[in-house]
Amino acid sequence: MTEENRIEKIIDVCLRRGFVNQSAEIYGGSSGFFDLGPLGTLMRQKLVDFWRQLFVLDNDNIFEIDGSLLLPESVFKASGHLDSFEDPLIQCKSCKSMYRADHIIAQNTGISAEGLSLEELDKIVEENKIVCPSCKGELDKARQFNLMFSTGIGPVSGNKGYLRPETAQNIFVNFKRYASFMRNKLPFGIAQVGKSFRNEISPRNFLIRVREFEQMEIEMFFDPEMANKFSLFDFVEDVEINIVTKEMQEKEWSKPLSMSVKDAVEKRIIPNQVMGYFIAMESEMLQALGIPKESFWFRFMLPHETPHYSGGNLDLEVKLSIGNVEIIGNAYRTDYDLKKHQKASKSTFTIVSNNKKVLPHVVEPSMGVGRILYTILEYCYREDESRTWSWFKFPASIAPIEIAVFPLMKKDGLAEYAQDLHLDLKDAGFVSFYDDSGKIGKRYARADEIGILYCITVDYESLEKDTVTIRDRDSTKQARVPIEDLEDVLDALLEEELTFEELLENQKNN
Ligand code: AMP
Repeated sequence: MTEENRIEKIIDVCLRRGFVNQSAEIYGGSSGFFDLGPLGTLMRQKLVDFWRQLFVLDNDNIFEIDGSLLLPESVFKASGHLDSFEDPLIQCKSCKSMYRADHIIAQNTGISAEGLSLEELDKIVEENKIVCPSCKGELDKARQFNLMFSTGIGPVSGNKGYLRPETAQNIFVNFKRYASFMRNKLPFGIAQVGKSFRNEISPRNFLIRVREFEQMEIEMFFDPEMANKFSLFDFVEDVEINIVTKEMQEKEWSKPLSMSVKDAVEKRIIPNQVMGYFIAMESEMLQALGIPKESFWFRFMLPHETPHYSGGNLDLEVKLSIGNVEIIGNAYRTDYDLKKHQKASKSTFTIVSNNKKVLPHVVEPSMGVGRILYTILEYCYREDESRTWSWFKFPASIAPIEIAVFPLMKKDGLAEYAQDLHLDLKDAGFVSFYDDSGKIGKRYARADEIGILYCITVDYESLEKDTVTIRDRDSTKQARVPIEDLEDVLDALLEEELTFEELLENQKNN
């Protein structure tokens, strides 16, 4: 398998096995829109639950809300999205194809042109004689294109609304209510999982650049004077992370630096402890989801890549077969958003927290569900010589289905025994799947292909002795276990308290 065709192979499994498909596929769909199928939905649920446990439920001062997707124009007038949530568009004068100017430049020259002015982009296009990739025609001058989807609210014309391009604005506009719910006690976080919409000029690379996507975001509000006295930071300060500094980017860099978040905050590579906390947790989270640490890093965003009000942004970038991709954005948005909405709505967002008047600052970790899911799919995808089929090495934390129960044959009471066992396992809380069709080898292959960790087979010995076999996806080895121990053994295997080798070893010794 070459790196270039990895994405095609993953798309193929996703379509065939119910992970993801294009929306409205029978009508040709629209680019940049995908539906999650049954397995994709199970995976998405696990990812969201994992994030929620780690960032929301485990923290006493972070709560989740669920805001509306369509918001009135006034919100985006105040936030600045109406004026500047734009990407540079460039059109071919002959065939009229449209491209994102900075992307077409990067493809042709390798120059990173994100955030450059229209004049700068035109100059690069001219100097490098970049032409239309479809028809080789001449390209027109670049112009700005607003990425928000607009619509009319209600039957009265003129009442304009926009699908939100990020989940954050719901939280800023309701700041007063949430602050009051939190008894005005800083720091506190408001989290949200939900859809965002961006009318991307050229959606591409499957789930990576789409027009409708889900984000898991937190707005962490704090007193700027307390930015480096953030108590949660104490739990993570020794976590080692991979980082790419501003200085490293002035030259060619080949390998990120490894340092503790404590060092990174002290050296001011990470703007403050609040962001340091989230960065450490993100690094731990991705590893627990099967993404190896050496494959991702936090890159300090250069001034032309960040908005003017930023107090320092660090993107989590991951190395994928299609190139390096940002999958999480960490932004220090300062008090910019609250100030903007305060002014436009004539509200006051200053609160009295700990006997002090403060207009809070905010750090925002923003994660794309689709991009993280795709990254997991890429890093867990396996082809090896021992099997003629591909498989996913999902950890239990993200596997859409953890175990499968198979009767060796449908006859002689094996199917009934296996069905009962499957239902018992479901009752006990396992995500189990029952399959009795086709040869057993085929069923193992089908289970591997969707990353099921353990297959339990009911055979004739099961009827006689109440034992079953457990087949390990990773090694394809099998162990025989008494039914009465099965739940405990599966629990220990899935919780990674027991390895399959240890299980085999224990059996030998008994
Ligand atoms: P941003 O607000 O642009 O920093 O985006 C925050 C996160 O949302 C990114 O790190 C991505 O994971 C995700 N994201 C942004 N734009 C898209 C898109 N067009 N398609 C898929 N995910 C996206």
